[in-house]
Amino acid sequence: MRRTFRYLLPLIALLWPVEVGGHDLLLSTVEILGDASGASVSVRTSLSHLARAEQSRNRALTAVEIDMAVRRRLRLQAGGAVIAPGESTVRVDAATDLVSWRAAVPAAAVGLVVTESLFPEEPAARCLVRSATADVWLGALPTVPQLEQPGPLATFGRFVRMGAGHILEGPDHIAFVAGLLLLGGSLGSLLLTVTAFTLAHSLTLALAAMGMWTPSPRVIEPLIALSIVVIAFENLGRRGGVRRRPYYAFGFGLVHGFGIAGPLRELGLAHTVSALGLSLLPFNVGVELAQGAIVLALFPALLWLARSRPAVALRVTAAGSFAIAILGSFWMVDRLIPTGLAPSVFAQSAPSPDAVAARVDASFRPFAPLVSTRHDARFFYVESEGMPEHSMMVGITAWQQQVPLPQPYRGENAWRFPLFPQPAAAPLSAKEHFFRGAIAIAANGVPIFNPIKNDGVTDTFLAGELDEFGGHGGRADDYHYHLAPLHLQKLLGASTPVAYALDGYAIYGLTEPDGSAATKLDVFNGHSAKDSVYHYHATKAYPYLNGGFHGEVVELEGQVDPQPRAEPVRPSGEPLRGAAITGFEKLPGNSYTLTYTIRGETRKIHYTIQADGRYAFDYIDGSGNTQSETYTRSARGRGRGGPGRGPGRGPGRGRGGAPEAPQP
Ligand SMILES: [Zn+2]
Ligand SMILES: [Zn+2]
Repeated sequence: MRRTFRYLLPLIALLWPVEVGGHDLLLSTVEILGDASGASVSVRTSLSHLARAEQSRNRALTAVEIDMAVRRRLRLQAGGAVIAPGESTVRVDAATDLVSWRAAVPAAAVGLVVTESLFPEEPAARCLVRSATADVWLGALPTVPQLEQPGPLATFGRFVRMGAGHILEGPDHIAFVAGLLLLGGSLGSLLLTVTAFTLAHSLTLALAAMGMWTPSPRVIEPLIALSIVVIAFENLGRRGGVRRRPYYAFGFGLVHGFGIAGPLRELGLAHTVSALGLSLLPFNVGVELAQGAIVLALFPALLWLARSRPAVALRVTAAGSFAIAILGSFWMVDRLIPTGLAPSVFAQSAPSPDAVAARVDASFRPFAPLVSTRHDARFFYVESEGMPEHSMMVGITAWQQQVPLPQPYRGENAWRFPLFPQPAAAPLSAKEHFFRGAIAIAANGVPIFNPIKNDGVTDTFLAGELDEFGGHGGRADDYHYHLAPLHLQKLLGASTPVAYALDGYAIYGLTEPDGSAATKLDVFNGHSAKDSVYHYHATKAYPYLNGGFHGEVVELEGQVDPQPRAEPVRPSGEPLRGAAITGFEKLPGNSYTLTYTIRGETRKIHYTIQADGRYAFDYIDGSGNTQSETYTRSARGRGRGGPGRGPGRGPGRGRGGAPEAPQP
């Protein structure tokens, strides 16, 4: 017994790190295909590894998330310029834990280089970059020749574990080996059987791994299931089975070898001879060790039973074989179903950034040229001056003496949101967060702020601070909404989002795109209705629009980061009690007149944005007395008394719409 333990313990220690439920490969390949005219790039990596790296271990990654993760991690360059892949295809096989991603690349294959491993945060992760000219290892091992230096033993061990893991995680191989054992027989006949099986599957494993012959899994996988059924029925029939056993083992061993080769072949290691030598042998050793462990676990018990309780042994053989037959039959049916229907396998085309941007642009395009848009691989950008075409300010009864002025939301200072929104691990509510800055951008380029202002309690709409379109001038004289701009539906219709939240999810009007009622909204006014992607809706009561972020955003200093600066030109105003805005007019020559009443007196503010970039303000009281002021927008937009940024705050800080003072 003690002797047995001496052998078992190292075996257990060796197998321990194998993670059940996924091959922990830490190996990825990036393959560059094509020629001087164009290229495509294909990436293969472990699904569980990617999920862990993306910190979504507790839930499965969606195809879009996988696509995003690969796009973010794949660092492609050509001639020093960063290259963004085009339309991509994501294939996930949960059974083999494999992600295959492929995309066309707008560059010549010959000039393409991958500059970083897919998992730079993990020193142990390796990435093999294969192209027509060279195979290069990224990550811990920069080049192939160095592959053997940092511990061939470690590499050896990893492939041993990989091979053993493949057997131990694959219940079909276990079932087959168990089926071989159940029939009993002498130790000699058992050794013969196991040796035949090993020889056969080593042969086909090598053939497949070297890429010499790789039958489709669609043929091999059902055949493996069939082999299990056949062995089980052999056991049940039991006519001279023991003598025939080695032949069966050899024949089906050939089939199993192709199946076992799966993970090695999928890694694309096959064609790299040095890598093959390092992987094939230990992989096979692992396979043998795992099979040996199964034999060691089952054979002594079966032998003991056959000798001491022959009757029980017969029944165990019958029951076990019957169970294995059922299992094998189930697998066979399961594997004969087209893979598209199998639950663990899905293939999905991930839309390209261009395709997504074109869809998003349907909201903004109708407002050109006031609004212009652009995108890169990750973000959609909206440029505007934040000035809508409609009238502004009229209807406000709680006014802080701000007026609408155009803002430089352009270039680096443009609005942006992700093209591929990612659900947040911990969604943030707008009841506790984001009292500064915008939370969404309307289709007409006007930012939308939290309906609750930065005192954390005041509902701007109920407080009378908003005009008939749900907007007003902020502390930087920046016009913004606090409600969803439902009025834009006159132009857009119900089927196009009126705004986009800064986490990238669309905001529709009161109804679904097809006009049906929007039901089952979550606390953020959003849902994933009718199998569509998540989106928000406008409502007539709080939260009016997205009441927080279902998706990931970065929060910095109480606002979504980054976001554009609104640039004030004059000191921010104080609340003017009793004032009600009654008129607003846009005049030729960049002039505006705002009319308001206070204590029965009608006053006006007439202001002009001059050609020299200065801002001329005439404050006219009820008797016609005029007080004039001219303001200058200083460099970097740090206007006089710029709200929301005290002295000493450098550029790049305190960005975003100015916060609004609480109403006294
Ligand atoms: Zn506001
Ligand atoms: Zn909806």
